[in-house]
Amino acid sequence: MSKRPEPILSVVVPLYNEAASLPEFYSALKNVLDGLGLAYEIIFVNDGSTDPSAEIVQAYKKDDGAVRLISFSRNFGKEMATTAGIHKAGGQATLILDADGQHPVDRIPEFVARWRGGAKVVIGRRVGGRQTAFTKRLGYKLFYGVFRRLTGLRLHPDLSDFRLIDRAVQVQFNQLTEHNRVTRGLIDWLGYERAYVPYTENLRRHGTATYSYSKLFKHALDWAISLSISPLYITAYIGAVVLPVATLLGLGMLTNFALGDPLNLHATGGAYLLVVALFLIGLLMVSQGIIGLYLSHIHTETQQRPLYVIDQTNPEG
Ligand code: UDP
Ligand code: MG
Repeated sequence: MSKRPEPILSVVVPLYNEAASLPEFYSALKNVLDGLGLAYEIIFVNDGSTDPSAEIVQAYKKDDGAVRLISFSRNFGKEMATTAGIHKAGGQATLILDADGQHPVDRIPEFVARWRGGAKVVIGRRVGGRQTAFTKRLGYKLFYGVFRRLTGLRLHPDLSDFRLIDRAVQVQFNQLTEHNRVTRGLIDWLGYERAYVPYTENLRRHGTATYSYSKLFKHALDWAISLSISPLYITAYIGAVVLPVATLLGLGMLTNFALGDPLNLHATGGAYLLVVALFLIGLLMVSQGIIGLYLSHIHTETQQRPLYVIDQTNPEG
């Protein structure tokens, strides 16, 4: 395989039970890539498919030196599949592409053109929304709205994982060793000069999207935990409101009682009990919040992200 010329473009394709989509996808992809007039490789990452996806790729490999196959021992999920593909990609640029036909291959020349134009990250931006259930779309919107605010990163539901990254970004990406990861979230975190390529999402040609509601929910949590520590602060914030309010209420009631009830509160035993309970709950929330603060630091440390990312493509000195 080393006799092949060094690829300029690596195309990473995660595969999970895509046997039905593969033939059409592969021939369309080949057509477009051949038209680019540059050396390329296609890295299929078989994510533990239980259908003949891997066998089909093996057959392509026989006649096509550009095809590579990485096969996982079981299903590890799309994020791990794209990560493995990026790790192995040898091109000057790496493009990540779904095999189900939802990412239109005829947009690839534009990705390459934007990259050649200097962008280090080129992101497919969905126009006309996602071809998915209304409830899922609503969920995406809500989620991204909240997390854009929490993380300060440029996250948006229309920015897909149909992406191209320059070698410089890939090198940095490969340094990120955390386990809990969302590929496009990490690319967002890395930064670099970005460009966008609009595309209309095709309908899935075969089979159904493998992301069920519960898988999506887990995915959302993974994403949130990987990119934001803010949720750990929530209890601290609520406690910071509850505790002083309960303290003031309690002091007010006691003073009122000591002075012979000038405010005419006629506070019952239940009312005192409630204030005491509120005070204790506030105390608990604050102490939970403090634990949260420490945890957030531990979390950040365990991710072992680089402290900063230097854009080597901008000469230093
Ligand atoms: N995929 C994968 N592992 C999985 C699920 C999906 O490698 O566990 C691949 C799948 O074969 C496809 C891409 O990831 O190439 C997108 O999957 P899907 O269409 O199910 O997700 P969605 O379109 O909802 O993002
Ligand atoms: Mg899909």
